[in-house]
Amino acid sequence: MNEPVILCIEDDADIRRFLRSTLTANGMQTLEAANGKEGLQLASSRSPDVILLDLGLPDMDGMDIIRQVRDWGATPIVVLSARDRERDKVAALEQGADDYLTKPFSAAELIARLRVALRHTGRRVSDAEFVFDRGGLFIDNAARRVTLDGAEVRLTPIEYKLLLTLARHADKVLPHSTLLAEVWGRHGQDTQTYLRIHTQHLREKLKDDPLNPRFIVTEPGIGYRLKG
Ligand code: CA
Repeated sequence: MNEPVILCIEDDADIRRFLRSTLTANGMQTLEAANGKEGLQLASSRSPDVILLDLGLPDMDGMDIIRQVRDWGATPIVVLSARDRERDKVAALEQGADDYLTKPFSAAELIARLRVALRHTGRRVSDAEFVFDRGGLFIDNAARRVTLDGAEVRLTPIEYKLLLTLARHADKVLPHSTLLAEVWGRHGQDTQTYLRIHTQHLREKLKDDPLNPRFIVTEPGIGYRLKG
């Protein structure tokens, strides 16, 4: 038996029931916690493969749970959040959550996000030897080389750093602030504009249509995600 173990930290019993039945039907094992304290206990004692975390818990702030889990390891965390809580999602991603699902979500969405999170477990490659090869886009960081459908793409240092950052976290939403910090080493009002302009240039060089993206997806009000 090698079923992935998913820890669901959620105080709403109906949602827990939905999670349990969906995960079980898709060959995943479920651990359940109705509050943050139980959730942290299970996270440390049972080492789940992925944590599904509701941010609105009765006893603890979801952000504290993310911080504590990140103190001891890299278990992927997928946050469950209400539709109008954009700021919470950004804060959760900044604290180290890997992804989020907006309530209400379908069983298909849940499973798709979990599969992505599971693909990322235990796959931390060092920066120097990083290689990305998906959907016609190829990045070889050792050679600092990018090709699109086999043809070389010439990027400025900033564009390259932006693409590399997105690629190293493929399938994951990166908040504006994270991209600004990683690419420019700081963030403020002015740098938001740089990010938008450089993303636009990068898209042009990758022949990517923002309205129907092949590579770079805009997450409105939050950030960008490279399709993995
Ligand atoms: Ca809740």
